Amino acid sequence: MILLSKIILGKEEKEAVLKVMDSGQLARGAVIKEFEDRFAEFIGVKHAIATSNGTTALHTALVANGIGPGDEVITSPFSFIASANAIKMAGARPIFVDIEEKTANINPRLIPDAITQRTKAIMPVHLYGRPAKMGDICGIAEKYGLKVVEDACQAHGAEFNGKRVGSFGTGCFSFYATKNMMTGEGGMISTNDDEVAAIARMHIHHGSSGKYRHEMLGYNYRMSSMEAAIGLEQLKKLNHFSSRRRDNARYLSENLQLLKGIVVPEICSGHVFHQYTVMITEEFGRARDDVKNCLFDRDIASDVFYPIPIHKQRSYKEYWNDHFPVAEKLSTEVLSLPVHPLLTEKDLDKIIGALHEL
Ligand SMILES: *Cc1c(COP(=O)(O)O)cnc(C)c1O
Repeated sequence: MILLSKIILGKEEKEAVLKVMDSGQLARGAVIKEFEDRFAEFIGVKHAIATSNGTTALHTALVANGIGPGDEVITSPFSFIASANAIKMAGARPIFVDIEEKTANINPRLIPDAITQRTKAIMPVHLYGRPAKMGDICGIAEKYGLKVVEDACQAHGAEFNGKRVGSFGTGCFSFYATKNMMTGEGGMISTNDDEVAAIARMHIHHGSSGKYRHEMLGYNYRMSSMEAAIGLEQLKKLNHFSSRRRDNARYLSENLQLLKGIVVPEICSGHVFHQYTVMITEEFGRARDDVKNCLFDRDIASDVFYPIPIHKQRSYKEYWNDHFPVAEKLSTEVLSLPVHPLLTEKDLDKIIGALHEL
């Protein structure tokens, strides 16, 4: 079976975890600080704060930017539910803005119309590892005095105009087991803002500013040292992983772009291809889900990210009257094909061959 994602752990990660276990310090130690410092350096920001996962990174980043009850945050309806859930967790209201068909990311041209007196922030999602249009988004944020919180949970190392995502506003990353770099469960916040960093540090540790001194309501959203040890080794390999993903994506596109009814992702230099996602249109002659099943029968995994836009989820009933036509259309057409770093040319040819045959 050609899998959609594969865990890549070497002896470096294993040795690093054993070293932490032997050290006797399994939490809140120097290894976490080291991971935070290296990650901040990689993104190109002053501060990085390790968290228990990407969702807690998003929740914390919003709170640290002063977002709370009564506030509105503009985001994409075409994402993993955690993006919008984090806004609700902060007590604020998600306001959805439709996406662009070509990129599946939030459409900056539609943002100004969604801004109200209550809008406090824009949360773009760099979906599939493709950077959102940060030039336009930051311009709008500046004009209207809004914060930018980036959901970069799928976009470790992605760049917009040569600048890493997660360095435009407050960045949020996930190190869940299937992401481009992983620690099992884990997350990270990146920021250049000293105050945001200070509040985020308190928020992940019960609002604590010093030993048993609590300034605000906080949570236990900390990362363990074993996870940080894995993360440090993964970070060293990330650039290599990303270039493998990009090479695989280029090869797939070269060989799929001429097929009628398959729209391949637009080439973009800063894309790190967490997913390689094509659109199966009517012209293909087979429904998207049919294609997925046929690939499965040929031992090729594929999946749909995401089959139900957030505003159509049962836990978002209050949004059911809203319509975001592009998000709704893409949810019926997108199909993500394997692109992970361990694929061989033979694997890629098998995927390409199967689609040509279909
Ligand atoms: C994975 C992911 C998250 C959440 O990260 P977890 O570590 O699973 O909590 C948030 N947003 C997006 C777009 C993701 O892909």
